[in-house]
Amino acid sequence: MEKASEKISEKELSLAESKTKEMNNELTSDGTCPQCIQINQEHTFYENRTMGYWECPNCNLQLQMLSPNFLGIMNERGEGNLKSIRYDKDLWGDRILLRKPLFNGDDCIIKDLNELNEYLSGF
Ligand SMILES: [Zn+2]
Repeated sequence: MEKASEKISEKELSLAESKTKEMNNELTSDGTCPQCIQINQEHTFYENRTMGYWECPNCNLQLQMLSPNFLGIMNERGEGNLKSIRYDKDLWGDRILLRKPLFNGDDCIIKDLNELNEYLSGF
């Protein structure tokens, strides 16, 4: 993933912050990919055929819908085999991002973009 290592400008970071809201120490997503938005590219998740997860069509980040209002970020990229079902923020809303594989209650809630990027740098 060469994109993850690109330098992020202040302007891009502020766009990312407006799209991925930091509220109460919780980073959320309304279906916009939280990785791509940081390089100024807006991509909405689509459901994939492989696992039924949400997947970004650009960077192949995979997310799983979890109760009650979470999106768990998987630590493996998808294969880009997508259905035409797009994440609908009116139906599924703005959800709190979690590190899925480490799921252990509140400990895995991603607090801000720095924590997100640290997690994303691992896969
Ligand atoms: Zn992406």
